[in-house]
Amino acid sequence: MERITENLSTPITRECDVLVAGGGVAGIAAALAAARQGSKVILLEKQFMLGGLATAGLVTIYLPLCDGKGHQVSFGIAEELFHLSIKYGYEAKYPTAWLEGGSIEEKAKQRFEVRYNAQLFALAAERLLSEEGVTILYGTSVCNVAMDHDKISAVIVENKSGRTAIKVHSVIDATGDADICAMAGEETALFGPGNILAAWHYYEHGRGYDLSMLGFSEIPEEDRTEDTKPLIARRFQGIDGQELSEMVQLSHGRILEEVIKKQQENPAYMPVTIATIPQIRMTRRIVGRYTLDTADDRKEFEDSIGMIGNWRKRGPVYEVPFRSLYGSKVKNLITAGRNISSTDAMWDVTRVIPVCAVTGEAAGVAASLADDFKALDVAFLQQKLTDAGVRLFYDQL
Ligand SMILES: Cc1cc2nc3c(=O)[nH]c(=O)nc-3n(C[C@H](O)[C@H](O)[C@H](O)COP(=O)(O)OP(=O)(O)OC[C@H]3O[C@@H](n4cnc5c(N)ncnc54)[C@H](O)[C@@H]3O)c2cc1C
Repeated sequence: MERITENLSTPITRECDVLVAGGGVAGIAAALAAARQGSKVILLEKQFMLGGLATAGLVTIYLPLCDGKGHQVSFGIAEELFHLSIKYGYEAKYPTAWLEGGSIEEKAKQRFEVRYNAQLFALAAERLLSEEGVTILYGTSVCNVAMDHDKISAVIVENKSGRTAIKVHSVIDATGDADICAMAGEETALFGPGNILAAWHYYEHGRGYDLSMLGFSEIPEEDRTEDTKPLIARRFQGIDGQELSEMVQLSHGRILEEVIKKQQENPAYMPVTIATIPQIRMTRRIVGRYTLDTADDRKEFEDSIGMIGNWRKRGPVYEVPFRSLYGSKVKNLITAGRNISSTDAMWDVTRVIPVCAVTGEAAGVAASLADDFKALDVAFLQQKLTDAGVRLFYDQL
């Protein structure tokens, strides 16, 4: 491959205690938690809104904070962001039993989830982070890191001001794709099976608007053509620029076909919003010091940083070990959100919004306490999380 050598000298324009890369739900929770510990926090987001997939990606269902048997399992910022997402109005699935004092039997029938409005959630999150003193830099992509032995000393970014560097004490990778881990030489793994194509969008139907959770696999057998069949079978990895662009264009094409088809039945059918970031679920993750698996249901972890349920079925509860957030190579780098350390089977459970908030909060507190996560006093971290309202262990349910 032909190469160009760039002669770069990058000015250091900022410095912070905790740098959060990515402003999705995990990054929001992480920045909030770190700021509340008194840290100077900078959050970098390449879009011009907060929320990531949960807002710009139009994935607007805040999946359950409960175990499906009537017990709440996720607390702290995961619960706070749930309320924030519907502070100025919700769209559907209002969990009456949970928010209006239902019995445990009623709670067991209805999961603690809600469909919120993406724009309201993004605006509310931005206001909250600003009030808590987080510096948000939009339109800013992390494009490299500078290393000092086994620590990241600075993060290199690009935005309208050009290419600059931010000196850091600790870094939270909340990019969803473990981008910072890859840049820093931390061990990472890819999602084996790859992702199916999604084409979620909002549409107007003449009497209001609704969410279409359209995906290629949902094309009915009788509607599948020789053109669409290979696309249904296709899987996407999500970390290659060309592939990701193709994926987004296929998703757009699918939405347009859907609109044309629906307009034949209902001329009022109009798309009102399409996603502005790729709708991809599981891409690249850190290989942490522990990798969470579905078999860890009800397993006790001394270093638990919070609990999560399983949105796909009722019953399972998992304690999340702190070790699933950081790796072995880069001391001051920790992950949060859909790029934490999970097996392929467990990833579909750990990638969802409440889990991103649970891991975000833990990463944020940890990053404000230490710049070497392996050496961090976990009991101290757990005390801080408990003080903030997080429940860590099954016996607290
Ligand atoms: C089709 C689909 C349907 C889903 N359905 C649901 C659902 O119903 N309910 C649910 O709870 N979950 C659902 N999920 C999963 C969930 O939405 C996401 O996994 C979760 O929101 C991920 O949050 P995150 O903060 O970890 O990552 P992301 O939301 O991906 O946020 C990462 C952020 O980092 C930014 N970023 C990335 N790289 C850089 C960089 N180099 N520099 C600066 N910024 C960067 C991105 O722009 C983005 O804003 C779904 C996902 C998909 C794709």
